[in-house]
Parts: sequence; C-alpha cells; structure tokens
Amino acid sequence: MDELVALAKRRGFIFQSSDIYGGLQGIYDYGPLGVELKNNLKAAWWRAMVYERDDVEGLDAAILTNPLVLKYSGHEATFTDPMVDCRSCKSRWRADHLDKPVCPNCGSDDLTEPRPFNLMFKTQVGPVDDGSSFAYLRPETAQAIFTNFKNVVDSTSPKLPFGIAQIGKAFRNEITPRNFIFRVREFEQMELEFFVKPGEDEHWHDTWVAERLKWWGEQGVNENNLELYNVPADELAHYSKATVDVMYRFPHGLEELEGIANRTDFDLGSHTKNQGDYNIQSKVDPNTDSNAKLALQDLQDKTWQVPYVIEPSAGVDRGVLAIMNEAYQVQTLENGSERTVMSFKPHLAPIKVAVLPLKRNHEGIVDKARSIKRELQKLGLGRILFEDTGNIGKGYRRHDEVGTPLCVTVDFQTIEEDDTVTVRDRDTMEQQRVHANELADFVKAQIT
Ligand code: ATP
Repeated sequence: MDELVALAKRRGFIFQSSDIYGGLQGIYDYGPLGVELKNNLKAAWWRAMVYERDDVEGLDAAILTNPLVLKYSGHEATFTDPMVDCRSCKSRWRADHLDKPVCPNCGSDDLTEPRPFNLMFKTQVGPVDDGSSFAYLRPETAQAIFTNFKNVVDSTSPKLPFGIAQIGKAFRNEITPRNFIFRVREFEQMELEFFVKPGEDEHWHDTWVAERLKWWGEQGVNENNLELYNVPADELAHYSKATVDVMYRFPHGLEELEGIANRTDFDLGSHTKNQGDYNIQSKVDPNTDSNAKLALQDLQDKTWQVPYVIEPSAGVDRGVLAIMNEAYQVQTLENGSERTVMSFKPHLAPIKVAVLPLKRNHEGIVDKARSIKRELQKLGLGRILFEDTGNIGKGYRRHDEVGTPLCVTVDFQTIEEDDTVTVRDRDTMEQQRVHANELADFVKAQIT
C-alpha cells in the first residue's frame, strides 16, 4: 500500500485533499492521471451496463437530497455504525472494527458502550440557518433512482425486467476513514437498480453476481484475488433480503469491492403513498409525505405491482485502488536493473500513447511529433500525450510507471528518410518501426 500511495502522489494519480492546509481526513483528490483512470473505469462500467444492454437507462441525479427521501428510505433511523469513545484519550472508534475492546490509540480499555452514529452529512439549504431548512448529502446514489422511478418509466415505457444506472458522488461520515481511498468520506458509486418481477428476484440476483465478476475480470482484476461473501442475515442492511459482496484482496486485506443486494420492494414500497388506489403489497405507512406511486401496472390483469430490485453497487474509488494494485509490478530486467510498470488494460490506461520527439527543439522532428499527436487524438481513444523532454530512455521508464501502453518516437529517419516512427510496447518493451500512414490503424488495434 505504501508503494502505491507513493506512486499515486509522485506521478499525479491521487493527492490528499486540501494538502497545503494539512489535509482533510478521508478526502482525496484525483490528479492529472487519476482523473483519466477514474473516468476510463466509469466509462467501461457505463458501456457494459447501459450501452451494451437494451434494458437499462441512465440517470444523473442531484447530490443534495430532501430529508424526507432519506426518512422514508430508512436511512435516518438505521444508517448507522456502532461508535465507542475512549474515555482516556477522547478518540472515537467503530466498535465492530476493534479486534478487542481496547483503544488502538492509547491502549486504554476504558471505552464507552457502543452507540449508533448516523453516517449522513447534513447541510444548510438557503439563507436562513435556523436548523429547519437542511438537506442531506446522499449516502448512496440509489435513492434518487427510486425517487425518479416514475419519471423514467413515464418517459421511456420500459417493461420488466429493466434497470436504471447511475454513477456519482456519495458521502458518508465514516467514523474512522482509512486505508487510502478504500474507506473515505466522499466517494463515487456506480449503481444499477435492476427492477424485476417478484419471484424472479433470486434468479436475477445470481445472474448479476456472475455478470459483475466477469466485468471485474475484464478490467484486469485477477479472479484469484476476488471472493464472494454471502452476507449473514444479522449483518444485512435494513433494506436487504440477501446480499453477496464481491470481496477483493486489497493491499490491507480481503474487503468489499462491490455489494450486490436484493433490495426487494423495500424502497419503491416505502416511497409509495396512497396505495389504497392500488392492489399492491407494501410495507409502508400510507401517511407518508410522498405522492409518488412507484409501481407498474400489469397490462393483462391490470393489477399494480411494486417491482423487486437487484442492486449491483460498486465503489469507483475502491475500483481504482484494486486496479492500481493489480497493475503494479516491479520487474528485474536482464541487465539487473529494475523497472516499475503499471500494466493497466489499455482501455483503462490514463495515457494511451505518448508521442516523443527524439530531439527537443528540433523543429522538423517536433512539428512531425505534434502533428502525429493531433492525428492520434482524433481517434477518440482517450488521452494522447505529446512530450518534449528529449530523453527517450527516461520517457519510456516514466510511461512504464504510469502504464502508457505505447510510446511513439519521432526521429531523424522519420523526417529525412522513410516517414516511419518507432513504436515501443510497454509490456514486451519491444520496438518496431511503423509507417506514419499506418500508425492510426496500428494504435487502434492495440488500444481497445
Ligand atoms: P463497508 O461495509 O465497507 O462500509 P458498505 O457495505 O457500507 O461498505 P455499500 O453500502 O454496500 O457499502 O456501498 C456500495 C459500495 O460503495 C461498496 O461496495 C463500496 O465499494 C462503496 N463504498 C461504500 N462506502 C465507502 C467508503 N466509505 N469509501 C469508499 N467506498 C465506499
């Protein structure tokens, strides 16, 4: 983990937030390469979950959330972790994360009884700070999918089963944020709410567990580092009938990367009011403040039914950490020297191709390199970097360390002889000459 954290800072992947003022605990910023990696991971998820399917629509909802949503979703009452205080040094801990009832800071066993601590952040809305006009920062993206259920159904007329996908920030006031970007207070989630007929929920739960394992494999996560964990009944979230966690062997241990929950009709049911009009079963108090009727009508028998929902919910930040951990390698070369390589899958690599002029400030070479950069950039594969440092060997090493799959070097032969460039492969370190006219096709074939 220390090596990853150091590399992340040195090469511009991830920085402690507000660093120049001492940071803010559990909050991180993504630097020039981190933002690319993160965007690529999110794009891969969106491609698989929305574009490559015909039964999922996307959504991008607001972060600030009406407190009633989180009241009726059950989060106000139950979205808590057990907290203990150390009476000696006044530090606070998550009770279920302590191996023994001893303060990890000062060693005292004088701890308070665990009490529930709500993880939601509140913020004032509007100019009057009288405590009554507040909103929550959403603790999961899912609720906005449920509250927009009718909007999406009315505007897209889907048939069951269908899903609504969303990627976005979520906030949890974790008692003890830790392990770099693994447990943070501000993070991103990639969530799909997949609505199904009650009775078909268990089949779809199994299906999504298999789909999600396959997807993580396609992102370069070795299956030997993944394990499934059937969450025992007494650990289930308040909305869940069954949850399977996809656990990943992080540098600090085996922990949750993604949770795949069968949320039943809990949320749509809770947000549904006036069910008297509808022939639906739900666990809610009809005197809620929501007017939404979050149900679907069966076209044949005209009955209304609240769908069940299967939710694969993955953390973007935990995904980035897993993918960096998988990619990180220190290799000893034949000549005894070492190289650090991030062997990202090309579609996730922050920089796809670095174009390096052999001689900096040489007008002909630099112009040619710039024009190659511009042409490759038009392919829409992601970031193509022009880098005029003049030291090719160092450039290759640096690009190994940030995981750039291909480096293209423009030299005298290019401009004076045959219009070929050297293409150097990150993984094999082999170099070959490719004609500039064929470079785009060559690059496209490698970076998919
Ligand atoms: P944990 O038990 O580790 O606190 P959770 O079970 O509360 O996680 P979920 O509510 O299932 O997490 O959230 C879905 C996903 O969101 C998680 O699998 C994880 O990837 C991500 N996630 C949740 N909390 C955090 C956090 N504090 N920091 C980073 N990612 C998080």
